[in-house]
Amino acid sequence: VREAGGDKIVSLSKATHKALNRKALIEKRLLQALDQKNLKVLYQPQIDVYSRKITAVEALVRWEDEVIGVVSPDELIPIAEETGLINNIGSFMLEKACEQVLTWKKAGLDLKVSINSSVREFRDKNMAQSILETLAKTGCPASLIQIEITEKFALEAEAATFITKQMRKLENEGISFILDDFGTGYGSFRYMQILPIDTLKIDKTFTSSLLKSEKTQKLMNGMVQLGKSMELKVVAEGVETAEQADLLISYGCDAIQGYYISKPIPAEEIEVLLVK
Ligand code: C2E
Ligand code: CA
Ligand code: CA
Ligand code: CA
Repeated sequence: VREAGGDKIVSLSKATHKALNRKALIEKRLLQALDQKNLKVLYQPQIDVYSRKITAVEALVRWEDEVIGVVSPDELIPIAEETGLINNIGSFMLEKACEQVLTWKKAGLDLKVSINSSVREFRDKNMAQSILETLAKTGCPASLIQIEITEKFALEAEAATFITKQMRKLENEGISFILDDFGTGYGSFRYMQILPIDTLKIDKTFTSSLLKSEKTQKLMNGMVQLGKSMELKVVAEGVETAEQADLLISYGCDAIQGYYISKPIPAEEIEVLLVK
């Protein structure tokens, strides 16, 4: 660290130093947490517009470390992606989701569970195989597992071809794919064209400005029509109010997710919601 520089340089490098330390600490603690299966999963329900019932939930990772405290997914996931630990988080989440599907199935509930994954994770040659192995090991029906995929960056053509193949393999076994964060990021239209997806999930940044902006209203309506014209299911996330829900339903959204229905909650609380 530079001693004699101006104040700004010193404080900048101190900040950088601190960030690097935190990253290293998170990586170290995360490895241990994964080893001890010390991560938790919350589930956020989705309402099917036609049946007005909860038919699917999204699994979201939660981590509170003894030393660091709570690490939010927005901090955790980018670090996990950088260090490669994202694959371990993915396996953990899938296993939890499969176990949960079976617990609900035994209680007479057929709930679909989705897990989040980066398109990039499908570059791993073993990704599809290891997902199928987890399904086989747990006995979870593939038709109840969905994978929400996102990608912030462009993929080279070669990687895209390989990834598409892996996804097709899973699709043939009954797993379905949701294109997450639709409308943001680099590849929405391209991924919509090449990947075997069956649902668009429109990003919550659109929902949050829906009532304030006529442009957003036209955009969201357009995205819903686009999805429909491609015979995809369309879900809106980040729905916080009845007004937003009504408008999105009037556009033809098939399902609604957000604080208006429920925040992400533990599995047992999902069951309580279902009984209501
Ligand atoms: P996402 O997949 O777009 O998930 C939606 C995020 O919005 C979640 O944040 C959820 O708690 C939050 N949310 C839900 N409803 C509302 C609402 O009505 N209003 C607002 N303002 N927010 C709402 P969370 O759980 O903090 O996750 C953030 C992101 O981290 C996720 O965005 C996802 O990209 C990533 N993530 C979370 N869990 C996992 C995981 O297990 N694996 C991977 N690869 N990524 C994950
Ligand atoms: Ca998601
Ligand atoms: Ca999103
Ligand atoms: Ca996301």
